[in-house]
Amino acid sequence: MDKINVLKEQAASLSLYNTRDSIEDLINQAERDEITYTEFIGKVFSAEIGYRHAKAEARRIKDAGFPYAKLLKDFDLSFCKSITSRQFKQLSELNWIDGGYNLIFSGPPGVGKTHLAIGLGYHACEEGYKVSYTTMQSLVQCIRTEEIDRRSRAKMNRVRKSNLLVIDEVGYLPVNATEGNLFFQLVSELQEQTSIIITTNKGFEEWAEFLNDPALATAILDRLSFRCDRIKMSGKSYRLENRKSFLDAKEEKDGI
Ligand code: ADP
Ligand code: MG
Repeated sequence: MDKINVLKEQAASLSLYNTRDSIEDLINQAERDEITYTEFIGKVFSAEIGYRHAKAEARRIKDAGFPYAKLLKDFDLSFCKSITSRQFKQLSELNWIDGGYNLIFSGPPGVGKTHLAIGLGYHACEEGYKVSYTTMQSLVQCIRTEEIDRRSRAKMNRVRKSNLLVIDEVGYLPVNATEGNLFFQLVSELQEQTSIIITTNKGFEEWAEFLNDPALATAILDRLSFRCDRIKMSGKSYRLENRKSFLDAKEEKDGI
């Protein structure tokens, strides 16, 4: 076996997979650039560390379970009048996760609640936080079945270990008494260890209605609101304002 292949095997046995795959390039480049031994070792280590970070980040994003990617950089602040650029910057800095703060984004459909929630979650994954995304409906289903269903249990274990839990679409569907109580238990359990982002189309006064229990609604909101910023997102639906029409686009193209 030639020397390079021996090095590759040794790198693999040390789990240095990036080094194994790029050792020839690293050596060729070092010879070309005539760098010192110290610089060479530094380049090998940096490349391996960079590769591992990128891999871990990709895994965090995959495990978070986002339905699709939405990025903060694509969030148009000039369209969303409910958030100042200063608030947006503060949210993007993610210190609120370290402080165990919760966020509630409320408002009508299409104003960007889910975009902002996923964007923040995605960015948190990039910054090394463990994140879980779920809709309220799927969360309730998992809490109900975690004792009997392996996949629900795995999802709930992940939720409990997350730094940030995004619960999308709270209040869209009514929740029965058992589900409401289980949700309350979860929120209590996560308090101060996991930040929660909630998106909802309901005002606080309407929580009693969809939970079908005013006392429970008060208890849940009490837990959630202790360390919490609530952002009421009003305005027009981005979807309606930026409606894309296949027919118009085609007519334009055809010069009609
Ligand atoms: P909501 O959850 O409030 O119903 P979404 O976040 O799903 O609304 O937004 C609907 C669509 O409009 C998505 O494609 C989203 O990316 C886009 N959108 C909403 N608000 C903005 C915004 N301020 N800037 C860019 N895109 C936006
Ligand atoms: Mg939404």
